Amino acid sequence: MSFRALIVDKAEDGTVSQKIETIGEDRLPEADVTVAVEYSTLNYKDGLCLTGGGGLVRKYPHVPGIDFAGTVEASDNPAFKPGDKVLLTGWRVGEAWWGGYAEKARVKAEWLTPMPDGLDARRAMAVGTAGFTAMLAIMELEAHGLKPGQGPVLVTGAAGGVGSVATAILAKLGYEVAGVTGRPETADYLHSLGAKTIVPREDLAEPSGRPLESETWAGCVDAVGGKMLAKVLTQMKYGTSVAAVGLAGGAGLPTTVIPFLLRGVNLLGIDSVMRPQADRVAAWKRIASDLPMDLLDSMIQPATLAELPALGPAILKGQVKGRVVVDVR
Ligand code: NDP
Repeated sequence: MSFRALIVDKAEDGTVSQKIETIGEDRLPEADVTVAVEYSTLNYKDGLCLTGGGGLVRKYPHVPGIDFAGTVEASDNPAFKPGDKVLLTGWRVGEAWWGGYAEKARVKAEWLTPMPDGLDARRAMAVGTAGFTAMLAIMELEAHGLKPGQGPVLVTGAAGGVGSVATAILAKLGYEVAGVTGRPETADYLHSLGAKTIVPREDLAEPSGRPLESETWAGCVDAVGGKMLAKVLTQMKYGTSVAAVGLAGGAGLPTTVIPFLLRGVNLLGIDSVMRPQADRVAAWKRIASDLPMDLLDSMIQPATLAELPALGPAILKGQVKGRVVVDVR
């Protein structure tokens, strides 16, 4: 009945610490489904929850891990039975609820997604919130008219989790992908995922001050936000869209409304956390069909629970390449 969990705690002086402990099932929150977790992952937000950043975790001790995949062990809900393969992303699990950095998790049935055909627990976590959100962003761009052949599609933060998966899916779908990275050493990796061109981060780091620049991009999946997003908006082609996913480069947006008014540019907000279940099932189905599994495997950096305390600060510094997959067992 006891299991291993990575517990994050906060001391009275505000110091946040992480420790692997063996605890009893009675420590799990109350809910209708208990899952034997096999794999979890590391997203930018996990970096915040591991280190006490961003004010995301309010109650300690806490088990982070915003994503997990595993097998249902017990269920009081007819939607799931023992042995079912499931995954979970979002719903503030790992932030406001104990998450996936443990051998067991107990959650509400409505938060669980059945494992899509074509994926297993390890690959589902290689996708994780980052990859799921990349898919949502691409689907939103498509819904606003993006089609192959319209010009280059920009992916910012390309060597990170969202960026890697977005690059691989867009390339598979026939788009010409331009990947923005601050790490020139990842160029071979990004080309292997399908990026046609690499844009150095410094090229897009600062808005020029001009409200419009030459029309360059047919679409953009933006994991960076801040000044980079402001600059990208000025370079979008007429009538195109940017999917705003992340804030790795800052939450501010020092822009003008001119790209919206004179070029009909759309800024599409992407939230993965509270997405209704129907959207989730549709996006995971697309992931299983549109993300080449060999490329997904090439993004994986395997890790254990014990490595997470070091990996948390690393992802916040933009030092993690691709997708960390945590074998929690
Ligand atoms: P990663 O750290 O894996 O990727 C972020 C990448 O952004 C880095 O790898 C780096 O790429 C680039 N980057 C980092 N710092 C800067 C900077 N100061 N300026 C410019 N580029 C920078 O994180 P994730 O992929 O997990 O998440 C990316 C963002 O998306 C985060 O802000 C996260 O919170 C957000 N997010 C939002 C979701 C939603 O529901 N809206 C869901 C998932 C994530 P490179 O080295 O190639 O330049």
